[in-house]
Amino acid sequence: MVAGLGQPPFRASQLSRHFFGRYTDQTEEMSDLPLAARDPLARALLPRLLTAERELSCDDGTTRKTLWRAFDGALVESVLMRYPDRVTMCVSSQAGCGMACPFCATGQAGLTRNLSTAEIVAQVVAGARLLADGQVPGGPGRVSASSGGDDPPKPSRVSNVVFMGMGEPLANYASVLAAVRRLTEPVPEGMGISQRSVTVSTVGLVPAIARLAAERLSVTLAVSLHAPDDGLRDTLVPVNRRWKVAEVLAAAWAYAAATGRRVSIEYALIREINDQAWRADMLGSLLAGRLAHVNLIPLNPTPGSKWTASRPAAQREFVRRLEAHGVPVTVRDTRGREIDGACGQLAASARP
Ligand code: SAH
Repeated sequence: MVAGLGQPPFRASQLSRHFFGRYTDQTEEMSDLPLAARDPLARALLPRLLTAERELSCDDGTTRKTLWRAFDGALVESVLMRYPDRVTMCVSSQAGCGMACPFCATGQAGLTRNLSTAEIVAQVVAGARLLADGQVPGGPGRVSASSGGDDPPKPSRVSNVVFMGMGEPLANYASVLAAVRRLTEPVPEGMGISQRSVTVSTVGLVPAIARLAAERLSVTLAVSLHAPDDGLRDTLVPVNRRWKVAEVLAAAWAYAAATGRRVSIEYALIREINDQAWRADMLGSLLAGRLAHVNLIPLNPTPGSKWTASRPAAQREFVRRLEAHGVPVTVRDTRGREIDGACGQLAASARP
């Protein structure tokens, strides 16, 4: 395309370095490009795909949710979470979602459309730009003199990307896969994020899980299980009527075997719906001995939902029973709740 615009082809690499390596689409920052070439190249090849419509932050600015407007008015959200040792970008793969899980705000609104590869990547580049500009507080603390540490401070960069924003990533397979490649290939082809630090989360689209396993990537697969039995899962994750728990887990174990990667089983704990001790035992026996760990998510509130998070005692017992089966368990933090930026709360409404 660069050659087609009458420019030497090596300018493609220069432009890519600006965008993927320095997170800029601003021509005045591209001093290695001749002045006359900057605007035509940037206009043709680096159009602004997403416009920030609103920013909300909490946790002293270390969690920030951005509402984006696409060229056609479609709205999506992304969330940046800075921790002492890493920065995670939670990105959307679709505007809305067609999977209709009743406890998820995104699922209630239905699907608007798939995002393109570039619209997905742009969310991560935008987060990387904020960090590089020093606009996100926190990060690695200063090394104290007495500790004897002489490591230079780590540059601020996006270390992890999770496809856990709006949408079902495996229902937008081609764009998501191409985005994973752009995120993980080294500069100038991509952003140089480690494949192991990318997580693709799915409701359990079995053929697409098999297809992903065959790509020979080392990305982490997360499966939104939420119930160990088909009776309940049919209602919590409606696509279970098509692919049952046993089929979803078989696809997950095939993924683990093909990649050597531990699969993350997501389980939103919903009070008196799926948090019974017998369900913990049932889940534990399904997962015992597998390359898997369970990530329990205390249910986050969503508009109009009658459900709520489990009582602390029920959650503790659920963890204890899973551990008794030898299954590793973590409880996900509720980051972003105050700004409707936590799991299942992204609804991308333009209302203030
Ligand atoms: N569609 C994909 C990607 C979304 S990931 C998937 O379902 O896996 C978002 C995660 O948050 C999923 O595990 C989803 O089931 C979970 N979730 C949805 N609503 C939630 C809520 N209200 N509280 C906690 N977790 C929720």
